[in-house]
Amino acid sequence: MALLEVEDLHVSFNTADGVVKAVRGLTFSVDRGQTIGIVGESGSGKSVSTQTIMGLTAGARVSGEARFEGQNLLTMSDKELRSVRGAKVGMIFQDPLSSLHPYYKVGWQIVEMVRAHTNVSKAAAKNRAIDLLRLVGIPKPEARVDEYPHQFSGGMRQRAMIAMAMALNPILLIADEPTTALDVTVQAQVLDVMERLQQEFGTAIVMITHDMGVIADIADDVVVMYAGTAMEKAERRELFYHNHHPYTEGLLASIPQPGADRTKRLLPIHGTPPSLIQLPTGCPFHPRCPYAFDKCVAETPPLRSVHGRTDHESACWLPTDESERVAERTRVQA
Ligand code: SF4
Ligand code: MG
Repeated sequence: MALLEVEDLHVSFNTADGVVKAVRGLTFSVDRGQTIGIVGESGSGKSVSTQTIMGLTAGARVSGEARFEGQNLLTMSDKELRSVRGAKVGMIFQDPLSSLHPYYKVGWQIVEMVRAHTNVSKAAAKNRAIDLLRLVGIPKPEARVDEYPHQFSGGMRQRAMIAMAMALNPILLIADEPTTALDVTVQAQVLDVMERLQQEFGTAIVMITHDMGVIADIADDVVVMYAGTAMEKAERRELFYHNHHPYTEGLLASIPQPGADRTKRLLPIHGTPPSLIQLPTGCPFHPRCPYAFDKCVAETPPLRSVHGRTDHESACWLPTDESERVAERTRVQA
């Protein structure tokens, strides 16, 4: 049994403008110790899906299942969910300032987190906080533990967030754009810390990002999301070298190539993601897709196995045979 099994998740919100269909039929699973990367532009439903799973989208209409260790999180009471969050599932967000309270010492916040879920003395919890800060590579943790968030650099705050998320040895860590606000060097260091913790404690990670560079660094398996649903799913190397979906192709074309001319490197996907209230007919990517043909406008492609692999799926009408798909790519790019 996988650690987390999300099945046919739908999430929508009523707004004054209409029903926002934020997530539509998302299915994925995470094994123990594995890193799943969920990648897509903003508004693709990546954050909403994990927030919904963790009971953090009040007022949403939700259907489907999200089984964590076999228990459906979507039908749990708030009390049950609160005990899962923090203790079994750690969460890290993009902006540590929104999660670290500015008025309290960093160490105190970790101590409170530990004491809210376990029966340890304040002194023991503080030692744990110091150990955790050391673990995530914060220098002089004995002194830093008594500092306030504003005394930390951006990278250190993000490490402190990771320390807090790891305080109770969770078996799953959900990280939502944890390195987006950081510069590239610090970003790499923070990802290193996460990988190290994963190796040491066997934590599974769901990494949410818009950045294929982060996916390349850390993910085992990848789910590419667009307009609230999965466009392509594959193991990382397969996704990078044998991607099938034109949206994946576009995301990959827009990452900087090492050594490439920096003024020419970006091939953005033209256009913008669709309205989640009024989705396009057929394939949701068709208004932006360089390969679109008649069928794409009329019929929605289901996820289906491509390249003869059961562990590689794509929701696209292009040929599922790799050599035909490559021929099509060459023809359109010419
Ligand atoms: Fe493009 Fe058609 Fe594939 Fe959609 S189904 S990604 S429009 S080729
Ligand atoms: Mg987001």
